[in-house]
Amino acid sequence: MLKQIGANTYVLRGGSNIGFIVCDGSAVVIDAGLDKDAARRAAKAAAELDARIKAIIITHAHADHFGGAEALKKRTGAPVYASSFEAVVIENPVLEPLWLFGGALPIRSLTNKFTLGKPCRVDVRIEGDELSVEGIKLKVVRLPGHSPEQIGIGFEDTLFCADAFFPIETLEKHGIPYCTDLDAALATLDAFVKGCFPYAHFIPGHGEPLEDPVPVAQANKGRLEQIRDVVYGILAIPSREHAILANTALLLNMRFRDVVHYYLCRTTVYAILASLEKQGLVEVITDEDGVKWRRRIQGPSLHQ
Ligand SMILES: [Zn+2]
Repeated sequence: MLKQIGANTYVLRGGSNIGFIVCDGSAVVIDAGLDKDAARRAAKAAAELDARIKAIIITHAHADHFGGAEALKKRTGAPVYASSFEAVVIENPVLEPLWLFGGALPIRSLTNKFTLGKPCRVDVRIEGDELSVEGIKLKVVRLPGHSPEQIGIGFEDTLFCADAFFPIETLEKHGIPYCTDLDAALATLDAFVKGCFPYAHFIPGHGEPLEDPVPVAQANKGRLEQIRDVVYGILAIPSREHAILANTALLLNMRFRDVVHYYLCRTTVYAILASLEKQGLVEVITDEDGVKWRRRIQGPSLHQ
């Protein structure tokens, strides 16, 4: 269902939200949804708004946000925009399941449309913090962490903020939110908590639009910090990666629902290990059975 948010901003709610900025009959679309059905719904929404789609901006290269881009581009002829790192994945979507599977070509369960989007040529690499489309001036807001070069788009009083945070129900359902760079994700969330973004409306990639993003950003930040503390706690005993993941799930009182959920959670746990290692708190060592993670003996405490 299409919902008006600001004077010229709208959201088409769905499994992943599609944003619209409409001025003088021209529309900029923020994210293209999962597949061609989402693209069809986006095209229909533009018709309802009496607007022609002039640009498709993809906030980050996850299949549920760009899977519909190629179909929407075909229908409208509109160019596709993305930041340069994310553009590489949108053009080569196998990279998403490939890195979920540790760099090898992915297994079947990682190649459904939720993790392997349709490829789409990106016409414009977004650089800098401003973008103009047919005279519509947009702010580009960097929101890294969930994905390496995720961006949000600001227009008038609305910020389309991609997957910088998830609704509380989603946090509870997934247990471990997906993140590729823990420190960047925490810094992005902290910027929301501190009110660094001067907007009246916030449209996330999933869930309802918000006027006050602070409680949900705080909850996301708290959850990532809690998981980091759990992982560091586990490493009081040197542990192998699978044991770290299994014990993290146990201590968070959650279960891995399926193969995809396991590999998504593993990425976040790896992001936590990389962050702790960068701070000099943990290290990885090899032994006759492979690799093991342990705390650094002389390392500083986590909360210093
Ligand atoms: Zn995402």
